[in-house]
Parts: sequence; structure tokens; C-alpha cells
Amino acid sequence: MARELAGTNNGHARRFNRRVVLEAIRVFGPISRAEIARRTALMFPTVSNIVTEFLEQDIVRTVGRATGARGQPATLIALNGDAAFTYGLHLDRGQIRTLLVDLAGKVRARAMQWVETPDAAETVSMVEDMVLSMHADAPVSPGRVIGAGLTLPGPVDPETQTSAALPYPGWRGAPLRDELQKRLGVPVSVERDAPAAALGERLHGDGRSVPDFFYVNFTYGIGGGLILGGQPYRGVNGYAGEIGHYPSVRDGRPCLCGARGCLENYASPAALFSDLGIAGPPAEAARRLAHMSADRDPRLLKWAGEAAEHLAPALMAIENMLDVEAIFFGGYLPKALVCDMIDLVKPALQSMRMSGKKRHPELRVATSGADAAAMGAAVLPVFELLAPDPNLMLKRTENSAPAEPVRSVLQL
Ligand SMILES: [Zn+2]
Repeated sequence: MARELAGTNNGHARRFNRRVVLEAIRVFGPISRAEIARRTALMFPTVSNIVTEFLEQDIVRTVGRATGARGQPATLIALNGDAAFTYGLHLDRGQIRTLLVDLAGKVRARAMQWVETPDAAETVSMVEDMVLSMHADAPVSPGRVIGAGLTLPGPVDPETQTSAALPYPGWRGAPLRDELQKRLGVPVSVERDAPAAALGERLHGDGRSVPDFFYVNFTYGIGGGLILGGQPYRGVNGYAGEIGHYPSVRDGRPCLCGARGCLENYASPAALFSDLGIAGPPAEAARRLAHMSADRDPRLLKWAGEAAEHLAPALMAIENMLDVEAIFFGGYLPKALVCDMIDLVKPALQSMRMSGKKRHPELRVATSGADAAAMGAAVLPVFELLAPDPNLMLKRTENSAPAEPVRSVLQL
């Protein structure tokens, strides 16, 4: 049983138990009441009462009966995706992606637009149009959307919720969150893109069964996010996992961050475009890269080998310092190229590894691919509700409470 799922039979913990039961249904559903009780260590009547309430509130639904069991087959319970919807809004250098996602993590509609250097006002209008187009594509009323997540390609100022250090001057310090809240009419949560992608993998991807992992996100640059004990670890400044600025080459290539020789300048899509001379607008560059990958172009494989050499020490630092179960690789790069990089980096890691280790992190291709950060954005409004932190009852403060409309819809 996953440790973080354990509920409590303490009478003061009703709200927490509801979240634990909901997570058991989300992770293991379709699932019977008895199985929920077994996995959460809650009493069967407690589970049964909570499930009955969830059914009355339409948060979960019945999806048939278990077969093969002795005695009366048990009713199976699953999350009701139609109970609530969120928007995932991902802004990056070169492209904007939006998703309309249901509570069960199913993408109901998506929109994507190549961009070059839009200012804040243009960006907000573009996102609003993309959201409208998603509603035109999917039969979901805007009134049923309970919140949105917005991800940005760089650190977020925790006080102003604006981008703190971006190469896009038009976005730096701009009140994108506030403007989008007004236009879309829902609360908007903000996060750096890579940690959000990790959250998406944890909630709806293969990370559901991996409580401790690192997520490497190849967007325009290269970022990272960290999930420990099933929860995001952000660090004091929200920079935890910034693998792109791992010092890879002493006095190496100048980096946008002001330092030199950062990994991002050797092992990111931006470095790839620069090293292989793939110029032109973002859409054209992506198209050329897709062709090179499909053709198994030797120049691309050579670059991947060099990038893997730069990546290996950073990954070994993660392995040795964090001892995580898995490292996921996601983002925009073609899946075949990500697989090549994983294969190329493995021998380099093995040559650096401490001897005698029984287990080391499994290197895995992430679930969401290019949608990773947008999916992560979409889970921001519901992550705390769906993935309970065992310390929640001890550290609950107004600041950590999810937006009121979200909480009231799910009655958690
Ligand atoms: Zn840097």
C-alpha cells in the first residue's frame, strides 16, 4: 500500500479521510469499497459513508461490478470526470498550449499556437481565444470549469505571482495571472513549467505509482521538477530542480541566467537548434527537427550523444543526492530522440555509479509528451485536493488552502 494513502480513523479527520478515499479511487479505480478500505487502512463503514456522499455529490460514479471474487460481486467506483473541469495554460518561448481537462485527467480539448515574442496584452488575448476555441471543440460549458493553471518558462515571484526572470521582456513582471483571471472568470494558479509537468505526471501519468521522482522537461530550454513523498518539493525560492543551470562546463557558453556553461546551453532544444543551425520561426524549426528525427539523421544522433555526455553528471548528482525511484523525461523533443538520449546516457551513468548499489533510478519517457507542462498546469487547481499531503492537517494555513470555488465544488 502506498504510504501516503494511509487514512486515519481519528474522529477529527473527516475532511482528510475524504481526500484519502478520493485519491485511492483516483489512483486505483475502478475499485470496490472493501479494496479502498484495505488500501487506506480506514474502517469499512467510514469508507462506505464517504463513497455514498461522493456518489450523491456526483464526484464519483459506479462502473459495474468486480468479477471473479467469491460471494456477492462488489460494486466498482471510479472518479467522475464530468464532475469538474480545469484549464491548463502553458506559455513558453516559441509556443502557447492550452488544454481543457476533466477531473479524471482526460483531455477534452486542446489548442496550440506558435508565437515569437508577443507582449502581455497580445498573450492574454491569444489565450482567451484559444480557450474559446476549446469550448467550441468540446461540449463543456465554461460554467463547469472550476479553475485554471498557468505555467511560465522560468521562476515565478512568490509574492506577485508574475514571472521573475524570463528572456521574454514582454512577460517579465506582467500581471498575466490577474488579467487571465478577469478574462476567463476562474481562479488561476501559477507555477514554473517543469515542476508543473512533474505534478501532471504524478497525478495523471505513470508517476501515479512513483512517490519519489525527478522530472526532466525539454521545452525550449531544459528544466526539472521534483516529487518527494508524492508531493512537490519547490525549495526556498521555487527553484528546486532547475537542472538547466547545473554547471556543466567551466567558463563555457554564456547563459541567459548570467552564469556560464550551464547545462541548458548544451542539452536543451534551444541548444540543439543552435548547434545544428536550425533557424527560422519556431514552427519551422520544430518541423525540421521532426523530419530529422524521423529520418534518423546522423547529425541529430551525434548531437544527442554529446548532449547525453553533458546530461550524465547532472543526472548522477540527482541520483546520488536524492536517491529517487525514477527520472522521467518529457517535453517537446520527438519521442524517438528522447529514447535515444536515454539509451545514450545510460552507459555514461553506469560508468559514474557507486559500485554495489542494488537499485538505481529508472529512466523513463514521461506520459504527456509535448502537453506535459499544460497538463501540469491543468492539475494545479485540483492537485492539493486530489493528492493529500499527510501533513495537511498540521500545516494548513490560509495561504495553502485551495481557491474557494474549487473547494466548494468538490466539497472537500
Ligand atoms: Zn544558466
